[in-house]
Amino acid sequence: MTPSPPKLVLTVIDGLKPSMLERAIDTGRAPALKTIVERGTYVDRCCAAFPSVTPVCAATIATGVRQDEHRIPAMNWYHREEGRYVEYGSSFSAARKFGVVQQLTDTVYNMNLEHLPADVLTVFETLDDQDTRTAGTTYLIYRGRHRHEVSKSTALTRLASTLVRRPVMGPRELFYADLFASRETPCRAQLGLPGIRDQHSGCVGAYLVENDLFDFLLFSLPDNDTHSHGNGPHAQVDSIATADRQIERLMHAAGGVDAFLAEHAVIVVADHSHAAIERRSDLFEAFSDWHVLAPSGSGRDEAEIALCPSQRAAMVYALLPEGRETLVPRIVETALALEGVDLAMWRPAPREGAIVGVRGELRFSPGGDLRDERGRRWSVQGALEVLHARVEDGVLRSEDYPDALARAWAALACPTSGDVLLSALPGYEFPDWGGADHVGGGSHGSLHHSDSLGALAFCGVEPPPGREAGGWSITDVAPMIRAHFAG
Ligand SMILES: [Zn+2]
Repeated sequence: MTPSPPKLVLTVIDGLKPSMLERAIDTGRAPALKTIVERGTYVDRCCAAFPSVTPVCAATIATGVRQDEHRIPAMNWYHREEGRYVEYGSSFSAARKFGVVQQLTDTVYNMNLEHLPADVLTVFETLDDQDTRTAGTTYLIYRGRHRHEVSKSTALTRLASTLVRRPVMGPRELFYADLFASRETPCRAQLGLPGIRDQHSGCVGAYLVENDLFDFLLFSLPDNDTHSHGNGPHAQVDSIATADRQIERLMHAAGGVDAFLAEHAVIVVADHSHAAIERRSDLFEAFSDWHVLAPSGSGRDEAEIALCPSQRAAMVYALLPEGRETLVPRIVETALALEGVDLAMWRPAPREGAIVGVRGELRFSPGGDLRDERGRRWSVQGALEVLHARVEDGVLRSEDYPDALARAWAALACPTSGDVLLSALPGYEFPDWGGADHVGGGSHGSLHHSDSLGALAFCGVEPPPGREAGGWSITDVAPMIRAHFAG
């Protein structure tokens, strides 16, 4: 048996769709990924969080827990304590609605320092605590134990640093857009503009390999998601090829594929997948007769609800605590009347979830006789047909809505989630607060398999116990990393 390599690179390719990765490999466009798949283990059904959007999934990948613990509930959410919306960057027009400075502050600072609880450890924090040398390229969750001042090296960062000045706590080596750079390198992120971010990661990553500056590197390749949003999931082969070239740069910096893999274990994971979008499902129109809290917060006293679209998922918050009991069923009814809404979810009781759609209603609660594919136990009542689910040998399975109960429960039990959660039908997307959508392109966010099941490949690192039978989830990644460095 070959000894496991001392170092580990976690490569997150945003939105990596398994069928597209396979096509890229088969057509010779992804030689580095091909090597990792061939020499390691490939999983074509690694399940995202719900909502299957980047902030929720990034927090799960970095911590190993779901949002009932990490509390990052969506791309856009309502902060009950602060009485305002939080927007992590659905689109530039959405960011403008809430204020670009506020959006940047929420995304760069508050997500890591306030929204993610201090006692929920990231892999950087776990590894920093044991003096493993950590490093990260631009990724939404970067929290570690090392202090980094805002970089002042370029005109662009001088401009940005008028918006963002505070230092952050990150991994030992942190390269976050052009805002934080723990060393002078020739690499420029140009403020992390979409489409050129992979190149910055590749440049920084190669520098880190060449100079032996890490034991663990989180290597983030986000451009595949941007490309797939604009051009549709079928166009991913091109952006996967770009991502592959960045992985090749790491390998090259180590002296070639064999030298690299002798020294580095590798995990490649998609945070979520991507599905084609044909139509809008306009949440704002559906709730046009309601008093909806405006992005500016104006009319807060009269506001009945807050609306939070997150691409193919959405959340509705009932803002009148005294009327919640009567408000929630009306919200569900209004939402289900909207074309494009597949499922609505809420909590009829503190330890009970409800999922409803045209096929009926299903109630569930944690604990009970029924097992899911990951071994969690549940009690279920009502129509399994809601999830196209069936019970086989005491195990609840659904091809259409993978890991549905655990994902829905984590979303419902998350203290920052809305009171009603929505999942869109295949082909539909909820336009964001800026009116932006991806009709004609791709998107993600729902409980459905099409945008939930991403690719996972790993080599030189052990799978967690119990995954031989499948049921892979992005929650498995952080435990694999921690075990690698614990052993
Ligand atoms: Zn996306």
